[in-house]
Amino acid sequence: MSSAPRHRILTNDLRAQWEQIRTTALEAMDRVGQSGWFIPGSEVASFEKELAKFWGLPFCVGCGNGLDALEISLRCLGLERGDRVLTTPLSAFATTMAIVRAGGVPVFVDVDRSGSMDLGLAAQLLETDHTIRFLLPVHLFGHAMRLDRLAELKSRFDLLVVEDCAQAIGARSGGQPVGSVGELAATSFYPTKNLGCMGDGGAILTADGALAELAGSLRNYGEVEKYDHEHMGMNSRLDELHAAILRDALLPGLGRVTERRIEIAARYRAEIRSSGLSIPPVPEGSESVWHLFPVIVPGGRAPFLAHLNQLGIEAGVHYPKLIPEQGALKCTPGHSRSVSLVRATEFADCEVSLPIHPFLSDHDVERVIEACNGWEH
Ligand SMILES: *Cc1c(COP(=O)(O)O)cnc(C)c1O
Repeated sequence: MSSAPRHRILTNDLRAQWEQIRTTALEAMDRVGQSGWFIPGSEVASFEKELAKFWGLPFCVGCGNGLDALEISLRCLGLERGDRVLTTPLSAFATTMAIVRAGGVPVFVDVDRSGSMDLGLAAQLLETDHTIRFLLPVHLFGHAMRLDRLAELKSRFDLLVVEDCAQAIGARSGGQPVGSVGELAATSFYPTKNLGCMGDGGAILTADGALAELAGSLRNYGEVEKYDHEHMGMNSRLDELHAAILRDALLPGLGRVTERRIEIAARYRAEIRSSGLSIPPVPEGSESVWHLFPVIVPGGRAPFLAHLNQLGIEAGVHYPKLIPEQGALKCTPGHSRSVSLVRATEFADCEVSLPIHPFLSDHDVERVIEACNGWEH
């Protein structure tokens, strides 16, 4: 056995990303600096156009972050105080926070074995509760939920839908891009996301020009013309600097880094075969972009995390506490956790996210596989 020191395998390596984008990013920054124009202008407009093209939806509206992109999207659909929004208990807290901030009341439904909202259970709930008009599903882990079933649910119950695509940029289901069923889709450029910027950023994607216009106004004080405020909006603009770096240095490489994530996921799926771990299934028809690579450690994850740590491997947990159990929701009027959340609870207790960032070497990937296969329980 070699005892040579081994580098720590990280869950993200944003310094390696900087090495790769440095020259292009510095040029982009210099151009913005020289333009003397830092808040929405031509760089944001140009990035919005490129992202819309990449995504395959006609309109894109850059925002300050993913949370705001979700809130603005819900407000664009006319959500009013007290409106109930069906969503998932297993996501970033921001998903539900956007609902509450927009004035809505979250209603939770359990996830399926992939970790995505269980659309069968959602249908059962909607059948018995006709007061729910809004749906906020999340394309979790970089998987695309079944869009055909989502579309069916939407039309059957006449729902207004915002898709949370913060983890799933570029993912497809049955050939269709995520975000193409809902009226609007929201995404995030938080640094560790598949398309992460050097700070906070987000965007709304839509096929509806009128909704895009409203979103563009809501992100900018509700202005429709200079000094003419038609809506009670907010300040959630994407900066020129982020837009320039995203467009020149990060978006052009997104296809390549996504391919690398897919390659690593394929190896994990083929080569991890410890009886002490199980790999959750991918939703049928999903062309996933593998933002995260979840495994389930039956009986609890703590010893497995310690085992990885001892071998110099960092890992994540998504998510250790279900959203309805967060203290911040205790006082949300109308919110109740009445349904059983057994599957979501299993993720909360037993999920571990293996490193899957695009800067892992083949050797790193092999170390992760070995560490998993050396784990018997
Ligand atoms: C990151 C994330 C968000 C929030 O995005 P921010 O840009 O951090 O506000 C929302 N939903 C999901 C699923 C996320 O992963």
